[in-house]
Amino acid sequence: MTQILPEAYLDYSDILIRPKMGINLNSRRDVNLQRVFRFKHGGTRTGLGVFNANMATVGNFAVAKKLLSRGMFATLHKHYTVDEIGRFFKDAAAENISLDNLFITIGVKDIDEQIQKLKDLESKYNWKSSRNICIDAPNFYIPKALDVLKRVRENFPDAVIMAGNIASSDICLKLLDYADIIKCGIGSGSACLTRRQTGCGVPMVSLILECADIAHSVSGHICADGGIVDVGDICKALCLNADFVMAGGIFAGTDQAEGEIVNKYYELPEIADGKHIIQTKCFKVYYGMSSEFANNKFAGGMGNYKTSEGRELLIPYTGAIDKILQDITGGIASCCTYIGAASVKHMSKCATIIQVHNQLNKVFEKYAV
Ligand code: 5GP
Repeated sequence: MTQILPEAYLDYSDILIRPKMGINLNSRRDVNLQRVFRFKHGGTRTGLGVFNANMATVGNFAVAKKLLSRGMFATLHKHYTVDEIGRFFKDAAAENISLDNLFITIGVKDIDEQIQKLKDLESKYNWKSSRNICIDAPNFYIPKALDVLKRVRENFPDAVIMAGNIASSDICLKLLDYADIIKCGIGSGSACLTRRQTGCGVPMVSLILECADIAHSVSGHICADGGIVDVGDICKALCLNADFVMAGGIFAGTDQAEGEIVNKYYELPEIADGKHIIQTKCFKVYYGMSSEFANNKFAGGMGNYKTSEGRELLIPYTGAIDKILQDITGGIASCCTYIGAASVKHMSKCATIIQVHNQLNKVFEKYAV
């Protein structure tokens, strides 16, 4: 019989982190934002557990470089060739940017081709010391995804492997036999249509709690992927025990994201000095990796057996990525001072989470144009 689970599943907008007395620090500067990650299959990496999404728009070299130079983690999308990635290695080395926290993404189509790509990177570009691999399937429940994961682990026993996406804890243990990090989140992404098209998805807060609990019991890690609207949501994910957080939309309007700035002109109803005012607004294109646009660009079209589970958006241009990266480090540090956490590692131990009906004061939204 079909069942409806009785408890409500919560999302970021349903909760807040409660400020409280603890070993509170006087300044955000005193908070340690770096964490040492010791992975299940060996290997240690150090950094702030924030990733850019492995999407064509934000999993590009320019965004990756910025996150890495801020001590965060980064992914490159799966459509770069070996030689393009090799050139990026050289550029980064010339700029003294460490690639220890860089994840190379592969898909789950054509297993041999994917493995070969990684082997070529190794033989041609000396990709050896910090091998981090992201295995990307929008739906990691398909058996082929597990086959790819097993093959990658066989071929790269000491690599740090992140695999996903999934949206239930029942699959975590099986994946963690081979993976180090499980990427959790289906249907939460800002350019995603999965919930509309399939009715499938799980709200992020409950998902993080459920998956972290299982993953941590066997020394695995999780990455909460999708649904970040504000920096506060990253803080919430970390407090809920996510080891890593991945975001796309919040980086997509920046100079460093792929694509040109698109200008749109609007004639305002007012007239100033007898003249109409034409207002310019600047946008950038952000598209889901399962959108029709991405399918046409990378997969030679949609194919008549599937429907688009992603959309193409024009989102406001936001300037240099440094501003949002500064907001992320500043926001996390400030969160730590509210809850008495001396380091990011301690956020989940220190946090008390409350369920709320009204997260934000929206008084000025009625004036939005
Ligand atoms: P955002 O930070 O924009 O809310 O979410 C980014 C995440 O959305 C990505 O890391 C990925 O997991 C997911 N995503 C990217 N493209 C698509 C798509 O076309 N369809 C779906 N369902 N999810 C997508």
